[in-house]
Amino acid sequence: VEIVGAPIFNDSNVLKGAVLVFHDITELKRLEQMRKDFVANVSHELKTPITSIKGFAETLIEENMDDKNIRSKFLDIIYKESERIQALVDDLLELSRLEKEEMHLRFEQINITNLSQEISTIIQQQAYKKEIKFVANIQNDILINGDPYRLKQVFINLLNNAINYTPQGGKVFLEVKLLSDYLQIVVQDSGIGIPEDDMNRIFERFYRVDKARSRNTGGTGLGLAIVKHIVEAHKGYIQVKSEVEKGSTFYVYLPMHKNIS
Ligand code: ADP
Repeated sequence: VEIVGAPIFNDSNVLKGAVLVFHDITELKRLEQMRKDFVANVSHELKTPITSIKGFAETLIEENMDDKNIRSKFLDIIYKESERIQALVDDLLELSRLEKEEMHLRFEQINITNLSQEISTIIQQQAYKKEIKFVANIQNDILINGDPYRLKQVFINLLNNAINYTPQGGKVFLEVKLLSDYLQIVVQDSGIGIPEDDMNRIFERFYRVDKARSRNTGGTGLGLAIVKHIVEAHKGYIQVKSEVEKGSTFYVYLPMHKNIS
Protein backbone atom coordinates (compact mmCIF):
# COMPACT_ATOMS: atom_id res chain seq x y z
CA VAL A 1 0.00 0.00 0.00
CA GLU A 2 1.24 3.47 -0.87
CA ILE A 3 0.23 6.26 1.59
CA VAL A 4 0.20 9.97 0.72
CA GLY A 5 -0.60 12.42 3.55
CA ALA A 6 -1.26 16.16 3.96
CA PRO A 7 -1.89 18.21 7.16
CA ILE A 8 -5.05 20.36 7.53
CA PHE A 9 -4.80 23.72 9.31
CA ASN A 10 -7.60 26.03 10.44
CA ASP A 11 -7.66 29.82 9.71
CA SER A 12 -5.29 30.57 12.60
CA ASN A 13 -2.81 27.99 11.38
CA VAL A 14 -3.55 25.49 14.11
CA LEU A 15 -3.20 21.89 13.02
CA LYS A 16 -6.69 20.36 12.89
CA GLY A 17 -5.96 17.02 11.35
CA ALA A 18 -4.62 15.30 8.30
CA VAL A 19 -5.78 13.71 5.09
CA LEU A 20 -4.32 10.34 4.33
CA VAL A 21 -4.77 8.66 0.96
CA PHE A 22 -4.15 4.93 0.72
CA HIS A 23 -3.38 3.57 -2.72
CA ASP A 24 -3.65 -0.13 -3.17
CA ILE A 25 -0.73 -0.76 -5.50
CA THR A 26 -0.76 -4.52 -5.37
CA GLU A 27 -2.54 -4.69 -8.75
CA LEU A 28 -0.08 -2.24 -10.29
CA LYS A 29 2.85 -4.17 -8.87
CA ARG A 30 1.39 -7.40 -10.22
CA LEU A 31 0.98 -5.94 -13.70
CA GLU A 32 4.49 -4.52 -13.60
CA GLN A 33 5.83 -7.93 -12.58
CA MET A 34 3.89 -9.59 -15.40
CA ARG A 35 5.39 -7.15 -17.89
CA LYS A 36 8.90 -7.84 -16.60
CA ASP A 37 8.35 -11.60 -16.72
CA PHE A 38 7.02 -11.28 -20.26
CA VAL A 39 10.08 -9.37 -21.48
CA ALA A 40 12.37 -11.85 -19.73
CA ASN A 41 10.50 -14.78 -21.29
CA VAL A 42 10.61 -13.32 -24.80
CA SER A 43 14.33 -12.60 -24.48
CA HIS A 44 14.99 -16.09 -23.24
CA GLU A 45 12.91 -17.73 -25.97
CA LEU A 46 14.79 -15.76 -28.62
CA LYS A 47 18.19 -16.26 -27.10
CA THR A 48 18.20 -20.05 -27.33
CA PRO A 49 17.70 -20.35 -31.12
CA ILE A 50 19.89 -17.33 -31.86
CA THR A 51 22.80 -18.79 -29.86
CA SER A 52 22.39 -22.04 -31.71
CA ILE A 53 22.23 -20.40 -35.17
CA LYS A 54 25.29 -18.30 -34.38
CA GLY A 55 27.28 -21.27 -33.11
CA PHE A 56 26.57 -23.51 -36.09
CA ALA A 57 27.09 -20.70 -38.61
CA GLU A 58 30.43 -19.82 -36.99
CA THR A 59 31.60 -23.41 -37.20
CA LEU A 60 30.59 -23.56 -40.87
CA ILE A 61 32.50 -20.36 -41.60
CA GLU A 62 35.64 -21.12 -39.59
CA GLU A 63 36.17 -24.81 -40.09
CA ASN A 64 36.89 -26.23 -43.48
CA MET A 65 33.77 -28.32 -43.78
CA ASP A 66 34.55 -30.87 -46.41
CA ASP A 67 32.08 -33.39 -45.08
CA LYS A 68 28.88 -32.72 -47.00
CA ASN A 69 26.79 -34.65 -44.50
CA ILE A 70 27.88 -32.54 -41.56
CA ARG A 71 27.42 -29.36 -43.56
CA SER A 72 23.87 -30.22 -44.48
CA LYS A 73 23.14 -31.31 -40.90
CA PHE A 74 24.32 -27.94 -39.59
CA LEU A 75 22.38 -26.04 -42.25
CA ASP A 76 19.30 -28.02 -41.36
CA ILE A 77 19.64 -27.01 -37.70
CA ILE A 78 20.12 -23.38 -38.70
CA TYR A 79 17.00 -23.54 -40.86
CA LYS A 80 14.88 -25.16 -38.14
CA GLU A 81 16.03 -22.67 -35.51
CA SER A 82 15.16 -19.75 -37.81
CA GLU A 83 11.72 -21.26 -38.27
CA ARG A 84 11.35 -21.29 -34.50
CA ILE A 85 12.19 -17.61 -34.27
CA GLN A 86 9.74 -16.88 -37.03
CA ALA A 87 6.94 -18.82 -35.30
CA LEU A 88 7.64 -16.97 -32.07
CA VAL A 89 7.67 -13.53 -33.70
CA ASP A 90 4.46 -14.35 -35.63
CA ASP A 91 2.71 -15.41 -32.41
CA LEU A 92 3.97 -12.36 -30.52
CA LEU A 93 2.72 -10.02 -33.23
CA GLU A 94 -0.63 -11.79 -33.27
CA LEU A 95 -0.95 -11.50 -29.48
CA SER A 96 -0.03 -7.85 -29.49
CA ARG A 97 -2.58 -7.12 -32.25
CA LEU A 98 -5.24 -8.96 -30.24
CA GLU A 99 -4.36 -7.09 -27.06
CA LYS A 100 -4.72 -3.66 -28.65
CA GLU A 101 -7.96 -1.94 -27.72
CA GLU A 102 -8.98 -1.37 -31.31
CA MET A 103 -8.83 -5.09 -31.95
CA HIS A 104 -8.53 -5.60 -35.66
CA LEU A 105 -11.13 -8.30 -35.93
CA ARG A 106 -12.90 -8.54 -39.25
CA PHE A 107 -16.35 -9.88 -38.56
CA GLU A 108 -18.27 -11.38 -41.40
CA GLN A 109 -20.79 -14.14 -41.98
CA ILE A 110 -18.79 -17.36 -42.23
CA ASN A 111 -19.68 -20.92 -42.99
CA ILE A 112 -18.01 -22.61 -40.03
CA THR A 113 -18.82 -26.04 -41.50
CA ASN A 114 -16.67 -25.37 -44.57
CA LEU A 115 -13.96 -23.73 -42.50
CA SER A 116 -13.65 -26.64 -40.09
CA GLN A 117 -13.72 -29.17 -42.94
CA GLU A 118 -10.85 -27.38 -44.67
CA ILE A 119 -8.82 -27.51 -41.48
CA SER A 120 -9.71 -31.16 -40.92
CA THR A 121 -8.09 -32.03 -44.25
CA ILE A 122 -4.81 -30.46 -43.14
CA ILE A 123 -4.96 -32.05 -39.69
CA GLN A 124 -5.78 -35.43 -41.19
CA GLN A 125 -2.39 -35.42 -42.93
CA GLN A 126 -0.53 -34.50 -39.75
CA ALA A 127 -2.38 -37.19 -37.82
CA TYR A 128 -1.65 -39.76 -40.50
CA LYS A 129 2.10 -39.05 -40.33
CA LYS A 130 2.06 -39.66 -36.59
CA GLU A 131 -0.22 -42.70 -36.85
CA ILE A 132 -2.93 -40.95 -34.91
CA LYS A 133 -6.55 -41.64 -35.73
CA PHE A 134 -8.35 -38.39 -36.47
CA VAL A 135 -12.14 -38.27 -36.58
CA ALA A 136 -14.19 -35.14 -37.29
CA ASN A 137 -17.90 -34.82 -36.70
CA ILE A 138 -19.04 -31.53 -38.17
CA GLN A 139 -22.64 -30.42 -38.37
CA ASN A 140 -23.84 -29.19 -41.77
CA ASP A 141 -24.43 -25.61 -42.83
CA ILE A 142 -23.51 -23.67 -39.71
CA LEU A 143 -23.22 -19.94 -40.31
CA ILE A 144 -21.67 -17.70 -37.70
CA ASN A 145 -20.62 -14.09 -37.43
CA GLY A 146 -16.90 -13.97 -36.78
CA ASP A 147 -13.39 -13.32 -38.01
CA PRO A 148 -12.57 -16.25 -40.32
CA TYR A 149 -8.79 -15.87 -40.09
CA ARG A 150 -8.90 -15.82 -36.27
CA LEU A 151 -11.37 -18.67 -35.94
CA LYS A 152 -9.17 -20.77 -38.20
CA GLN A 153 -6.35 -20.05 -35.75
CA VAL A 154 -8.47 -21.39 -32.87
CA PHE A 155 -9.07 -24.70 -34.67
CA ILE A 156 -5.46 -25.02 -35.79
CA ASN A 157 -3.91 -24.25 -32.40
CA LEU A 158 -6.19 -26.63 -30.50
CA LEU A 159 -5.84 -29.44 -33.05
CA ASN A 160 -2.07 -29.01 -33.37
CA ASN A 161 -1.79 -29.29 -29.60
CA ALA A 162 -4.01 -32.37 -29.58
CA ILE A 163 -1.69 -34.04 -32.11
CA ASN A 164 1.53 -32.81 -30.48
CA TYR A 165 0.59 -34.00 -27.01
CA THR A 166 -0.76 -37.38 -28.12
CA PRO A 167 1.60 -40.30 -28.64
CA GLN A 168 1.67 -42.42 -31.76
CA GLY A 169 -1.35 -44.70 -32.06
CA GLY A 170 -3.60 -42.29 -30.17
CA LYS A 171 -6.86 -40.62 -31.16
CA VAL A 172 -7.94 -37.05 -31.83
CA PHE A 173 -11.56 -36.08 -32.21
CA LEU A 174 -13.12 -32.84 -33.46
CA GLU A 175 -16.77 -32.01 -33.05
CA VAL A 176 -18.50 -28.87 -34.27
CA LYS A 177 -22.18 -28.46 -33.49
CA LEU A 178 -24.87 -25.97 -32.76
CA LEU A 179 -26.34 -25.83 -29.27
CA SER A 180 -29.33 -23.53 -28.72
CA ASP A 181 -27.48 -20.20 -28.46
CA TYR A 182 -23.92 -21.31 -28.89
CA LEU A 183 -21.65 -22.93 -31.37
CA GLN A 184 -19.75 -25.69 -29.60
CA ILE A 185 -16.30 -26.81 -30.73
CA VAL A 186 -14.86 -29.85 -28.99
CA VAL A 187 -11.26 -30.97 -29.46
CA GLN A 188 -10.53 -34.20 -27.67
CA ASP A 189 -7.35 -36.26 -27.54
CA SER A 190 -6.18 -39.46 -25.91
CA GLY A 191 -2.80 -37.92 -25.09
CA ILE A 192 -0.58 -37.19 -22.11
CA GLY A 193 -3.14 -35.01 -20.31
CA ILE A 194 -2.58 -31.98 -18.10
CA PRO A 195 -1.90 -32.21 -14.35
CA GLU A 196 -4.59 -30.60 -12.18
CA ASP A 197 -2.17 -27.98 -10.82
CA ASP A 198 -1.28 -26.71 -14.28
CA MET A 199 -4.79 -26.59 -15.64
CA ASN A 200 -5.49 -22.96 -14.67
CA ARG A 201 -2.22 -21.72 -16.03
CA ILE A 202 -1.98 -23.22 -19.51
CA PHE A 203 -3.72 -20.18 -21.03
CA GLU A 204 -0.99 -17.86 -19.71
CA ARG A 205 1.63 -16.63 -22.13
CA PHE A 206 4.67 -18.94 -22.15
CA TYR A 207 3.27 -21.30 -19.54
CA ARG A 208 4.11 -24.90 -20.41
CA VAL A 209 3.76 -28.06 -18.40
CA ASP A 210 6.94 -29.45 -19.93
CA LYS A 211 9.18 -26.87 -21.59
CA ALA A 212 11.46 -29.31 -23.38
CA ARG A 213 8.58 -31.26 -24.86
CA SER A 214 6.79 -28.14 -26.07
CA ARG A 215 9.95 -26.79 -27.75
CA ASN A 216 10.69 -30.11 -29.42
CA THR A 217 7.30 -30.07 -31.08
CA GLY A 218 7.88 -26.49 -32.29
CA GLY A 219 5.60 -24.93 -29.67
CA THR A 220 5.98 -21.25 -28.81
CA GLY A 221 4.05 -21.43 -25.53
CA LEU A 222 1.66 -18.78 -26.90
CA GLY A 223 -0.90 -20.92 -28.74
CA LEU A 224 -3.50 -21.20 -26.00
CA ALA A 225 -3.09 -17.55 -24.92
CA ILE A 226 -3.94 -16.61 -28.51
CA VAL A 227 -6.91 -19.00 -28.60
CA LYS A 228 -8.33 -17.55 -25.38
CA HIS A 229 -8.01 -13.99 -26.67
CA ILE A 230 -9.73 -14.80 -29.93
CA VAL A 231 -12.55 -16.70 -28.23
CA GLU A 232 -13.14 -13.85 -25.77
CA ALA A 233 -13.04 -11.28 -28.58
CA HIS A 234 -15.98 -13.24 -30.05
CA LYS A 235 -17.68 -13.00 -26.62
CA GLY A 236 -17.26 -16.72 -26.13
CA TYR A 237 -15.44 -18.82 -23.57
CA ILE A 238 -13.18 -21.86 -23.37
CA GLN A 239 -13.05 -24.77 -20.92
CA VAL A 240 -10.75 -27.73 -20.49
CA LYS A 241 -11.08 -31.13 -18.88
CA SER A 242 -8.13 -33.40 -18.60
CA GLU A 243 -6.72 -36.46 -16.94
CA VAL A 244 -3.02 -37.29 -16.90
CA GLU A 245 -2.15 -40.12 -19.28
CA LYS A 246 -5.78 -40.37 -20.41
CA GLY A 247 -6.17 -37.24 -22.49
CA SER A 248 -7.58 -33.73 -22.69
CA THR A 249 -10.76 -32.15 -24.01
CA PHE A 250 -11.03 -28.47 -24.91
CA TYR A 251 -14.51 -26.94 -25.28
CA VAL A 252 -15.01 -23.65 -27.08
CA TYR A 253 -18.36 -21.87 -26.97
CA LEU A 254 -19.13 -19.03 -29.37
CA PRO A 255 -22.39 -17.11 -29.08
CA MET A 256 -24.65 -17.25 -32.13
CA HIS A 257 -25.89 -13.63 -31.71
CA LYS A 258 -26.18 -11.96 -35.04
CA ASN A 259 -24.53 -8.69 -33.99
CA ILE A 260 -21.20 -9.23 -32.35
CA SER A 261 -18.93 -6.30 -33.03
P1 ADP B 1 2.79 -24.80 -26.71
O1 ADP B 1 3.36 -24.05 -27.86
O2 ADP B 1 3.79 -25.06 -25.63
O3 ADP B 1 1.99 -25.98 -27.10
P2 ADP B 1 0.25 -23.66 -25.83
O4 ADP B 1 -0.06 -22.28 -25.32
O5 ADP B 1 -0.47 -24.12 -27.03
O6 ADP B 1 1.82 -23.70 -26.02
O7 ADP B 1 -0.02 -24.69 -24.64
C1 ADP B 1 0.52 -24.44 -23.35
C2 ADP B 1 0.84 -25.75 -22.64
O8 ADP B 1 -0.36 -26.45 -22.33
C3 ADP B 1 1.66 -26.73 -23.46
O9 ADP B 1 3.05 -26.47 -23.36
C4 ADP B 1 1.28 -28.06 -22.83
O10 ADP B 1 2.05 -28.28 -21.66
C5 ADP B 1 -0.17 -27.86 -22.41
N1 ADP B 1 -1.13 -28.39 -23.41
C6 ADP B 1 -1.82 -27.71 -24.35
N2 ADP B 1 -2.63 -28.51 -25.05
C7 ADP B 1 -2.46 -29.76 -24.55
C8 ADP B 1 -3.03 -31.06 -24.84
N3 ADP B 1 -3.94 -31.23 -25.80
N4 ADP B 1 -2.61 -32.10 -24.08
C9 ADP B 1 -1.69 -31.95 -23.10
N5 ADP B 1 -1.13 -30.77 -22.77
C10 ADP B 1 -1.51 -29.69 -23.49
